[in-house]
Amino acid sequence: MQVPETKSDDKAAPKVSFVSLGCPKALVDSERIITRLRAEGYELSREHVGSDLVIVNTCGFLDSAKAESLGAIGKALKENGKVIVTGCMGAEPENISAAYPDVFAITGPQQYESVLDAVHRAAPPRHDPFIDLVPPEGIKLTPRHYAYLKISEGCNNRCTFCIIPKLRGDLVSRPAGDVLREAEKLAAAGVKELLVISQDTSAYGIDVKYAASKWRNKEVRAKFVDIAEALGEFGIWVRMHYVYPYPHVDDVIPLMADRKILPYLDMPLQHAAPDVLKRMKRPAAQEKTLARIERWREMCPDITLRSTFIVGFPGETEADFNLLLQWLDEASLDRVGCFKYEPVRGAVSNDLGAAVVPDEVKEDRWHRFMQAQQKISTRRLKRKVGTRQQVIIDEAGPSVAKGRSMADAPEIDGAVYVASRRPMRVGEIATVKIERADEYDLHGTAVGY
Ligand code: SF4
Repeated sequence: MQVPETKSDDKAAPKVSFVSLGCPKALVDSERIITRLRAEGYELSREHVGSDLVIVNTCGFLDSAKAESLGAIGKALKENGKVIVTGCMGAEPENISAAYPDVFAITGPQQYESVLDAVHRAAPPRHDPFIDLVPPEGIKLTPRHYAYLKISEGCNNRCTFCIIPKLRGDLVSRPAGDVLREAEKLAAAGVKELLVISQDTSAYGIDVKYAASKWRNKEVRAKFVDIAEALGEFGIWVRMHYVYPYPHVDDVIPLMADRKILPYLDMPLQHAAPDVLKRMKRPAAQEKTLARIERWREMCPDITLRSTFIVGFPGETEADFNLLLQWLDEASLDRVGCFKYEPVRGAVSNDLGAAVVPDEVKEDRWHRFMQAQQKISTRRLKRKVGTRQQVIIDEAGPSVAKGRSMADAPEIDGAVYVASRRPMRVGEIATVKIERADEYDLHGTAVGY
């Protein structure tokens, strides 16, 4: 994704074209770099041609993502020539310089200072930075009405298919006071929905032994439930991503039932068969997830549960896969994503010695999985017909606006199409009577503004 152009009437300001690839965590890194650049007076441009330099924030999670990143670097070199590469792929600079020896500088993930140093060398900043061009909440790449809020970096888990801990290091939690101050600025700037992200949100604060820090006139611990409660006080939507089903997650469900935070949990489970989970070394794999889900639904009946799964992991047998399908049926999750296993270079899972699942078997399992889940998701969506839902508007339209209910995260879930007797504004939250459901989306009419 390329960032929107900003306007400046000073033609002398150096121009930077920025390409941000990868997950929401990488997007937050991009936002931090761009905020710093704008604070120093740099302009952003939509075009590589005519810019003083290009920054490419890469994703190195899967081989397909690496290929996309390399493609973006190649394009930037061709169109501009002065290219700074950062992000996950920057952790293995030799791969980039082998493909593109002319790259100006390569830095790893979260190395904001190194990126800034490289930018200063490539195109020195103006003498007189217009600090006042930077809004207090920083520059956001997401639409103004929602923003990602990163509460920690890195990860203490060692899932065998994942190289993120190698790239980003162990868990480093931000002090709760810092997180809350950022959230406060975002809310004051008009953000209506915060998407809390990290690699393992439920592990927040373990590295700092849940140390408390000052927020307004009290102390708040760096702990999942405490930060959820404090964020809930801003009176805007707060959505939790990347939560593993540890027992202490139960403490957050009452906040969802009371609508302090959204009744929504994004919980990447990846599999259900014990042998596969063991080989994956998944966090919270021993937890009785089905029982936990049942309890959550008792505590908060309209909770939305989203998860992602991997099929075709090395050693996955037909019996393991059938167990996953059976689990899926019992869990009856609202939203599910499924990936075919890809052997990421450097991942431990490549050396487990387990039987490699042939591509055609992976493909077949993926289709069977998606068909099974589609029936479940459609059934769960249909239950909403006739109900009234709060919907946040993402795109205005002459007669029908596109939005999301509390059950839908941006980019990954479905939409609600809202007919309205008056034009709706982006970021507005309306009460919508749901009249129809299709496979992924809901349709209804605004009945309260
Ligand atoms: S929890 Fe597992 S998959 Fe997620 S970042 Fe950590 S090691 Fe990777």
